[in-house]
Amino acid sequence: MTETRRVQLKRLVPPTLNAIIAHADELTELDQAIGDGDHGINMKRGAEKILQEMPAICDKPANEALKAMGMALVMTVGGASGPLFGSLLMEMGKSLDSRPMNKDVLAECFADGIEAVKKRGRSDIEQKTMLDVLVPALEVLKEAKAGDKLCAQLKETVAAAEARTIEMKALAGRASYLGERSIGHMDPGARSCGLAIREICNVLEAVRNEG
Ligand code: ADP
Ligand code: MG
Repeated sequence: MTETRRVQLKRLVPPTLNAIIAHADELTELDQAIGDGDHGINMKRGAEKILQEMPAICDKPANEALKAMGMALVMTVGGASGPLFGSLLMEMGKSLDSRPMNKDVLAECFADGIEAVKKRGRSDIEQKTMLDVLVPALEVLKEAKAGDKLCAQLKETVAAAEARTIEMKALAGRASYLGERSIGHMDPGARSCGLAIREICNVLEAVRNEG
């Protein structure tokens, strides 16, 4: 593996996981409103497990690193979100294979990961789930040119997408048991995705500004 990738993984992954950990209480509160109140705890447990495994993960090629992070989530995170986020990362790793990463390859891998989430969750967009942030982010990644504005566009899109879940009625996952009463609250999984994507963008922008 190259030194560049080691730096990138080390640089990208811990801040992203730390952003999730820092918002664990908020994620739990969101899940208290429309679920069983464990989303923050679940995500924190998964994030801490990956952080623990970072030295070994950083030694792997990017596709294997993605698979290892996904596997860590499947193994340690209870609830629906562990297997779903796990499937996203494992499928992205499978799709990446040994290809060098660039924006278009990332978009392809992300699309394949999202399909795995849909399959595993038997879910789709507009059902008030993580997919309502993941899919709009994918659309930006597919359409936008790699460059200066991509991260800003992504951050704006995920913020709007998170907020849009407030008015949605949950049609998948535990929140769907609430029916109409799920309206008026942000989906916790959508928020997690927003936090992660925003933090990844922040790091990429910082790296870019360093030239
Ligand atoms: P659980 O619902 O089992 O308690 P979590 O609270 O950790 O698991 O995660 C809940 C989040 O997982 C939801 O906010 C939603 O975004 C996501 N989710 C749950 N079920 C599905 C599904 N079938 N498809 C896509 N996302 C889902
Ligand atoms: Mg829950």
